Amino acid sequence: MFSKKSVLFLLFLFVGASVYSQKLKKQEKQIVTHLENTISYLASDPLQGRRTGTYGEQLAYEYLSRVFDSIGLKPMGDNGTYLQEFPVEEGRKILKGTALSINGDKIDSTDFFPLTFSADGSITGTASPSVFESDAPWFFDVKDLLTTNNNNPHFDLGSSIKNQAEDFKAKGATSVIVYNSSNIVPDISFNGKSNESRISIPVIYVKKNASSKYFSNKEDFINLSFDLHTGVIPRNGHNVIGYIDNGAPTTIIIGGHFDHLGYGEDHNSLWTGKPEINHGADDNASGTALVIEMARLLKNSKYRKNNYLFVCFSGEELGLFGSKYLTEHSPIPLSSVNFMINCDMVGRLNPDTKTITVGGYGTSPYWSTLPDKTKYFNVKFDSSGIGPSDHTSFYLKNIPVLFFFTGTHSDYHKPTDVASKIDYIGEMRIIEYIENLIKKVNNAGKLEFLKTREPDMGEGRPRFTVTLGVMPDYTYSAGDGLKIDGVISGKIAEKAGMKAGDVITQIGDFKVHDINDYMKALSHFKKGDKTTIIFIADKTSKTVAIEF
Ligand SMILES: [Zn+2]
Repeated sequence: MFSKKSVLFLLFLFVGASVYSQKLKKQEKQIVTHLENTISYLASDPLQGRRTGTYGEQLAYEYLSRVFDSIGLKPMGDNGTYLQEFPVEEGRKILKGTALSINGDKIDSTDFFPLTFSADGSITGTASPSVFESDAPWFFDVKDLLTTNNNNPHFDLGSSIKNQAEDFKAKGATSVIVYNSSNIVPDISFNGKSNESRISIPVIYVKKNASSKYFSNKEDFINLSFDLHTGVIPRNGHNVIGYIDNGAPTTIIIGGHFDHLGYGEDHNSLWTGKPEINHGADDNASGTALVIEMARLLKNSKYRKNNYLFVCFSGEELGLFGSKYLTEHSPIPLSSVNFMINCDMVGRLNPDTKTITVGGYGTSPYWSTLPDKTKYFNVKFDSSGIGPSDHTSFYLKNIPVLFFFTGTHSDYHKPTDVASKIDYIGEMRIIEYIENLIKKVNNAGKLEFLKTREPDMGEGRPRFTVTLGVMPDYTYSAGDGLKIDGVISGKIAEKAGMKAGDVITQIGDFKVHDINDYMKALSHFKKGDKTTIIFIADKTSKTVAIEF
């Protein structure tokens, strides 16, 4: 049963929609139809959530290449195609050929592993658990370490072994053989997802099965031979790039990412049920469809004082890999780029607030001439050039940016982000706004770039080695602090009891007033650091101790 309020609300929506549709001009209707077609296809089941490096991503980039071709864009990818391939670095794995033998016995691969920070390498030699000679493998029994720290919640066995191994190395060890003669079950494994730095010698962990058999007599000399090989997990993403060459000295880049979360294999979905396709209609089939429509509009337009480069990025959801690669392997000189427009989640114009967010406002003085409302929506400007999407890669190359975003919603990063929930007419109105902007800027020449108020971190680039696993609410301005839009399962914030809607006000000694403070605070910590976080949940201030 509907409540009265929602009946009224639905009625209003219905009337609103029909008034709209009556008023749509032919070109507007055409844009809406195109948007519907593109988004329905990209968000459909066969594309399986368009995860970077999968068949779903391939179907998407093949489709985008065909569309770019039909519009008549010039291919600007690799070897005359629209595609620019790039590697995604997502960790390491233990490769074939990794082997250990002790006293001539081949040890089963389930009974040993290289530590995550181990160097690759081969060692053959004789050594004893009780002898520490230069230029030989050294043994390390973690029994004492485990016993002393048995009740220490902040104890990290991995980093303790790493420190010890560095120390051994400095004293002459060629490699370290780690084992555990205690009955405490150690929390350690090869973590392929980790990107921690490696040390310069091999460090191998020999599990109980083998260590109790071969290392129990500490006076014995043992013949050791091992080969450790680890490698990067190969995975490639593909940007799709098309160009309109007007022979102009400057180029405007219009982009949006087309990749999404697949079934959530990369642990970036907020869905906690059994694995399902994350359709990514708003995130970001909507922005991809907008890029295509802008290409159609600009192909035969009279705004020819800029060239236009259209880019559909991949690898965004894994950390802006595609846009970062593009800025480092750009098909046009970056010095000729006038500015970059990024569209990420532009399909859910909020029916109540009718407000969109435009980020990057502070990256050029010219942006102050942009209208802050239209007949159809209000614009809330956000100054920062750094944000959770691909424009960040361009801003960091000193290029003015604008980031269009209709705001977050409860379907964000969930399988329920589907095409039927898109406001196609709302998105068409955003396209009109951008078209007006392009028209206006046609005679403006090259825009001046400004650095925005960002955490002061040397080269202007924030480098985080730690994360709380929260998705910040970039549109939050109602109060003091960083509002959490969502928490990633299994990460620090979730474990510490934080949830969507909570507001972080302090990390360690650092007060958090806004997202800039938050980023600045995080940059002061590294993995293994312990600190406290103060946050507000249900109007109550809470303090939790965490370890990065
Ligand atoms: Zn996303």
